[in-house]
Amino acid sequence: MTCRSRTIALSPSERERYDRQIGAGVLTEEGQLRLKQATAFITRTGGMGGPASLMLTMAGVGNVIIAHGGEMISPDLNRQLLGSEDVVGKLRAPDFGNYLRSMNHFVNVEALPYEPDAAQASELAERSQVILACPPGFEERMRLNEAAVKARVPLIDAAQWGMTGTLIVVRPGETACLRCIYPEAPPFEELFPVVGAISCAIGSLAALEAIKILSQTGQPLWGKMLTYDGFHGQTNIVELTRDPNCPCCGELV
Ligand SMILES: [Zn+2]
Repeated sequence: MTCRSRTIALSPSERERYDRQIGAGVLTEEGQLRLKQATAFITRTGGMGGPASLMLTMAGVGNVIIAHGGEMISPDLNRQLLGSEDVVGKLRAPDFGNYLRSMNHFVNVEALPYEPDAAQASELAERSQVILACPPGFEERMRLNEAAVKARVPLIDAAQWGMTGTLIVVRPGETACLRCIYPEAPPFEELFPVVGAISCAIGSLAALEAIKILSQTGQPLWGKMLTYDGFHGQTNIVELTRDPNCPCCGELV
């Protein structure tokens, strides 16, 4: 990551805006500057990616790119924080983008109304300092993992089912990637059950990991999987093992 924080300063109004997150136990002013100069790419921006992109926008990440295809439907309303009943039947991305812009005019928001294919994911990875992968399907998840590994960009993978959510934080070349952990596609159901509160919780945790990584604050969950089983009220963190024969990251040193 290029850091030009010595030559670019926060304006007085930005300093005021972020006052509550600069200080002991939170960000340094230099960390806030790093956020300002950073680009985060979030796909998809429904249940988990929505709150994640909102938290990154409100925190002052300078460039937020979101990607989400399709129109909003009624069953999305239990968890898709960036939407509202007014968006039902409309394309989501433009509306979600406008909502994010309304929350912080210091942030450049780019809203893509589609899910990136492999080439687009690679191009977006090259432009970003962190990727937050929040899609429901395994194939899309792996595509983002591959793009992140190729560009050597940190990947935060968020997943949800029912009242349980998981978070995996990948540092390409150093930690396990998603392919190391899932050599085969796990079973997938199109309309899986999910409670919005877990989507929002995991999305916010994904954003927090991104904020730590981009601002160089605290200890990111590098190479770990965090699971929150909300049904039973249990949290678990496991260290993931990198596969030296992984077809995605095995060659990376
Ligand atoms: Zn791997």
